[in-house]
Amino acid sequence: MSQLTIVVPAYNESAVLATFHRRLCQVLDGMSLDCDVLYVDDGSRDDSWSIIETLVAGDRRTGGLKLSRNFGKEAALTAGLDHVTADAAVVIDADLQDPPELIPALVEQWRAGYDVVYATRSAREGESGFKRFTAAAFYRSMERLSDTPIPRDTGDFRLLSRRALDALGQLRERQRFMKGLFSWIGYRQTAVHYLREPRQAGTTKWNYWRLGQLAIEGITSFSTAPLRLATWVGLASAALAFAYGMWVLVKAVLYGDPVRGYPTLMLVILFLGGVQLLALGVIGEYLGRNYAESKRRPLYFIEQQRLPRDPG
Ligand code: UDP
Ligand code: MG
Repeated sequence: MSQLTIVVPAYNESAVLATFHRRLCQVLDGMSLDCDVLYVDDGSRDDSWSIIETLVAGDRRTGGLKLSRNFGKEAALTAGLDHVTADAAVVIDADLQDPPELIPALVEQWRAGYDVVYATRSAREGESGFKRFTAAAFYRSMERLSDTPIPRDTGDFRLLSRRALDALGQLRERQRFMKGLFSWIGYRQTAVHYLREPRQAGTTKWNYWRLGQLAIEGITSFSTAPLRLATWVGLASAALAFAYGMWVLVKAVLYGDPVRGYPTLMLVILFLGGVQLLALGVIGEYLGRNYAESKRRPLYFIEQQRLPRDPG
């Protein structure tokens, strides 16, 4: 029988973990697959880990990894996927926003020969209009900026085949924009549609600041368009400055030049100064990423681990 591992990143999810596990197990029991579950506690500060330990103790098919601190969802996912030995893995959030009931549908597509089956939500209930708007704007600009198509309205909820897992395992970059990495590896990919439910309990860990960070991460790790933009803005302002310079020269030759023009001078200096700082900022953004990448630090550390089916 083929094996399937469900990877669940959890950060301060004690409010939903037990409910989640119950619902997940119901789904898994109804499937003709050898399933197990791997929880990754991403350095939670509540009692998520002790709940996971209880779940592990009560069920041989359940395992848990405890990271040494909060590394962020992307690293937690990576830690989980690194430990999958099964034929396929499903990544799902612990907050029940991704319905476990969809897993059989994902598996069906995998059986049909797809390597990456992602779940695309058709509605975002329980999320503000503003969040919906920013999400839509983000996906749209990513689509235009980057060469890697990133499926729209798709979270991390998806199934990965063995060879997709192996491919993903080789991408050890630190700036892990998982949605991008999932689609970058290629192979046969397809979508399954579902209705996204509002969060069951607990609160989202993503405020707009973190979402903004994620958006910058997504754009800079999959596109160098901002660097090119800086070049174009620089070229355009240089051309404008040249034209303006010619005009000043012609004016001075034809009419002489009584000293005036302080406002225009200030304007030009301020404008160019602004453009230069902006371009420097963009370069700095990439340089910073390069720096972080060049340190080659491990992506996470594991404090405790109970793999599923571990004897003892
Ligand atoms: N998560 C994590 N580490 C973090 C933040 C979140 O492992 O630093 C987990 C979290 O427990 C949940 C999933 O990632 O299972 C998605 O988080 P959340 O629901 O806050 O994000 P959203 O659904 O709003 O995208
Ligand atoms: Mg959520």
